[in-house]
Amino acid sequence: MNKKGYFGNWGGAYIPEVLYETFKQLNQAFEQVKGDPAFWQEYIDLMATYSCRPTPLTHAENLSRHFGGGQIYIKREDLNHTGAHKANNVMGQGLLVKRMGKKRVIAETGAGQHGVATATMAAKFGFECTIYMGEEDVIRQRPNVFWMEKMGATVVPVTSGARTLKDAINEAFRDWVSSMDDTHYVMGTVCGPHPFPEMVAWFQSIIGIEARKQILNQFGKLPERVYACVGGGSNAMGIFQGFLADKAVDLIGVEAGGKGIDTGQHAARLASKDASVGVAQGYKTMFLQNDDGQMLDTHSVAAGLDYIGVSPILSDLWEKKRVRFAAATDAEVMAALDLTMKKEGIIPALESTHAFVHAFKEAPELKPDQALIINQSGRGDKDIFTIAHAFDDPSWKAFIRGKGEEYAT
Ligand SMILES: *Cc1c(COP(=O)(O)O)cnc(C)c1O
Repeated sequence: MNKKGYFGNWGGAYIPEVLYETFKQLNQAFEQVKGDPAFWQEYIDLMATYSCRPTPLTHAENLSRHFGGGQIYIKREDLNHTGAHKANNVMGQGLLVKRMGKKRVIAETGAGQHGVATATMAAKFGFECTIYMGEEDVIRQRPNVFWMEKMGATVVPVTSGARTLKDAINEAFRDWVSSMDDTHYVMGTVCGPHPFPEMVAWFQSIIGIEARKQILNQFGKLPERVYACVGGGSNAMGIFQGFLADKAVDLIGVEAGGKGIDTGQHAARLASKDASVGVAQGYKTMFLQNDDGQMLDTHSVAAGLDYIGVSPILSDLWEKKRVRFAAATDAEVMAALDLTMKKEGIIPALESTHAFVHAFKEAPELKPDQALIINQSGRGDKDIFTIAHAFDDPSWKAFIRGKGEEYAT
């Protein structure tokens, strides 16, 4: 990364003039803690006592045997407090807010998971908390709204525009412009203006640091491949950072293929040819947009992957061909979820299952004395109604039959 917050051609900080001082202060605070080993230790201790870190690396012996190729290992981010890797980022930012002496946090949330994580952090640190959420999402994500409110957060339904995530982001920025003196904006993923991508990636690097040590301890050598799903890109960057310097380790980011790339109903930015370079929401990356720069409607069975932009750090690694990208369709995700539950007794989140799809497709290419790691970003309990509904739809079974042995149980 260069001084202005660019990763190669990507990133930057396209912010309104009024937020200039706030970002300057945030940059200074982040630079300070980055160079302070005591801060990182405080973070490690907090995550060990509040969020079950280090999370285990599970050898999926039954799945490995089933595919007859490489040994499949699963990094268990689902075992974090609140059920996903999001805890790493929000708790880290909470410690930073404490350092900066601010008393209030705000965030925007679509599916509600980042809202719940932020409300949890605010309760733990004693911050005031306001969560912006499109009115449509408030209705769709009722259980998450319930928990946010019970933990003391104020949830503001946003009624402008399409009343979804994009409108909530605008509203949250509007709040910050008038409240920046005592308020921190908790970015949920490795996107947005500098220093957010770098900061969130730094906190999430805890995943890769642990995973590298664990695979060396448990398997005796590095994995051939590491798979992670990509929404904004935070869990992927988290685990990839542990292996970026190991050039022989193949890194694969899996995006939402939705109903299929050719249907246009997907959220694959780097794995399709449908995205183009743009600047929006304060940063430059590959966006799913039309020729006029209007953002397209995306689709995925996994709400957390349903996003128009992608981390500028991943756009850079994609351009440099260090990370390879693929897409998994909704139907493939249901098949891989079914198999993982039956074979291992593990319920990955629909988001995470995208990574499982490609790991399963490629596991037979490896030898039994080689390993691959799947980053299980979260647990699937939250998806119970979506999963039940999707299993009722016969198309995922047709997929299993259509593809033959690949997923047969
Ligand atoms: C939010 C979420 C994601 C997507 O976010 P990234 O920033 O791409 O990691 C993936 N998996 C789960 C379980 C999530 O909750």
